[in-house]
Amino acid sequence: MEEKGTISIHTENIFPIIKKFLYSDHEIFLRELVSNAVDASQKAKRLSVIGELKGDLGDLKVTVKVDKEKKQIIISDNGIGMTAEEIKKYINQIAFSGATEFVERYKDSTDKSQIIGQFGLGFYSAFMVAGTVEIDTLSHQDGAEPAHWICDGSTEFSITTGSRTERGTDVILNIAEDSEEFLEEARLQSILNKYCKFLPIPVEFNGETINNPNPIWTKSPSELTDEDYKNFYKELYPFSEDPLFWIHLNVDYPFNLTGILYFPKVKNEFDFQKNKIQLYSRQVFITDEVKDVVPEFLMLLHGVIDSPDIPLNVSRSFLQADANVKKINTYITRKVADKLNEIYKKDRTAYEEKWNDIAVFVKYGMLSDDKFYEKAKDFALLQSTDEKFYTLEEYRNYVQANQTDKNGQLVILYTTDAEKQHAFIETAKNRNYDVVKLDTMIDPHFIGQLEQKLEKTTLKRVDADTIDKLIETDAKPASVLSEDETKRLKELFEKAINNQNMTVGVEALSTDDQPVIITLPEFMRRMKDMNRMGGGGMMMGNFPDMYNVTINANHPINHRILKHNDERGEKIAKQAYDLALLSQNMLSGAALTAFVKRSVELIDKE
Ligand code: ADP
Repeated sequence: MEEKGTISIHTENIFPIIKKFLYSDHEIFLRELVSNAVDASQKAKRLSVIGELKGDLGDLKVTVKVDKEKKQIIISDNGIGMTAEEIKKYINQIAFSGATEFVERYKDSTDKSQIIGQFGLGFYSAFMVAGTVEIDTLSHQDGAEPAHWICDGSTEFSITTGSRTERGTDVILNIAEDSEEFLEEARLQSILNKYCKFLPIPVEFNGETINNPNPIWTKSPSELTDEDYKNFYKELYPFSEDPLFWIHLNVDYPFNLTGILYFPKVKNEFDFQKNKIQLYSRQVFITDEVKDVVPEFLMLLHGVIDSPDIPLNVSRSFLQADANVKKINTYITRKVADKLNEIYKKDRTAYEEKWNDIAVFVKYGMLSDDKFYEKAKDFALLQSTDEKFYTLEEYRNYVQANQTDKNGQLVILYTTDAEKQHAFIETAKNRNYDVVKLDTMIDPHFIGQLEQKLEKTTLKRVDADTIDKLIETDAKPASVLSEDETKRLKELFEKAINNQNMTVGVEALSTDDQPVIITLPEFMRRMKDMNRMGGGGMMMGNFPDMYNVTINANHPINHRILKHNDERGEKIAKQAYDLALLSQNMLSGAALTAFVKRSVELIDKE
């Protein structure tokens, strides 16, 4: 028997168009053909279960072979096979019309890069790398004849009686000259590793099974131990540290989704992007660009998501609008919130220990998703400088009595660097105020959010002003200086400091406070922070920092300076100012040298 025919499709020669479209992504041909072989094997399994497959099912497996001499790649399976009629129906009509549809839909698309790899081109993708493709197959059906099909990607094909004696299919690719890279075993190995690592039927290459057909996300959590989850994490991301914890996703209504999301232990902020969540569809790897499928703040997580309900054959803008994708987003967000809440409730100490590792996820989530904020506000923690943890509610209750200013605003004091801002933290503690640590990259945004969400609450960095001004109360110490003395003291310091970025003011502070205090106003610093992080409209990046220098009117040293009111007074003023700079690590270079020299002279005079 030999039959020649013409494949009935409308677009002549779609092949060159497809080849051009998918230029950068030719490797997916292997994913498509291996998953077809896997599908055919699984169909055989199902038919056998219901008694429709006669004879022995055998060990189902898919084999990938390369023949360098003949320049062939052969993908074989012992699945259900096809009759000549089925080839005509499924390959000639369906596969080719799928390809046609693809071309029709996307020929006018402007952003072609977006569709690459998202469209399962199926069988036809073989022609991206092969000049001619052959199918050698024997159907499982009683009395079926083997069939052999050959086609060069044009609309011409030929079907003859084949020679295959066992059930199943060989797809033989005669690799085109411009695609000979795919005859390299290392290349094939890496493609198989990327796309086929978790296919549900064993896939053999070079005599070795390359996949794990039963990855743990397909199992029930009750069958799995912590070790299983950790080992799987290592399988996904070799050489990574153990994850902190994980969430097993499993839903079948209103969409189908399984997977495992891991909270990684991240050493620094740059580690995040290294490993990514992998997206699978029925155990076939699709992509690790999960941007639109997973809520953005959860992109920091690791693991796998497997869903046949994520449309992979459409462009990205469509994906964003897709109802299933939206539901998946909501579902994942809720599961993550529930899991965090569960750990928090079950073992608060363990949760606190993990807090510094998970804080960035939680805060990022609270910032980007209001629903998440609503859940997370109950388990988001603030850590005080004496290492105690509080929920937002607990903390507000804790400081309420002591840190509410005269306008009824609750003032939360924070530090971004407990070492550098040590002097200020001490001053706050002397007043029995508490200081929390908000020292990660995301905290400037988180602070803004807390102020929006928490009623009558302001956050102030502990060095943003003198302590009396950070939390203004009615009980303000009176100044012992006259108006004239105050004016003279101010002028004296202005002369000694001689720097227009330093605004000098004299304030009545406690005698326990430092004689000179240098502060960077909260507003100013936030503007600069935002600017540095790329937000905000104003260009303040090149602006010098404008500091406030507060001279303590009640400090004895300043009284001495007034008394001298000469060169010696100016020298002491300079010394007091330098000490303030020094306590904030702001003294360096020539200024530091001059300070040391002056200090030596002063000691010498004692
Ligand atoms: P899809 O897999 O999305 O249906 P394909 O173009 O990849 O589209 O394949 C078209 C059809 O050809 C399949 O649905 C299947 O019926 C048949 N087919 C392809 N490969 C095989 C195979 N290895 N064994 C049996 N049937 C196959």
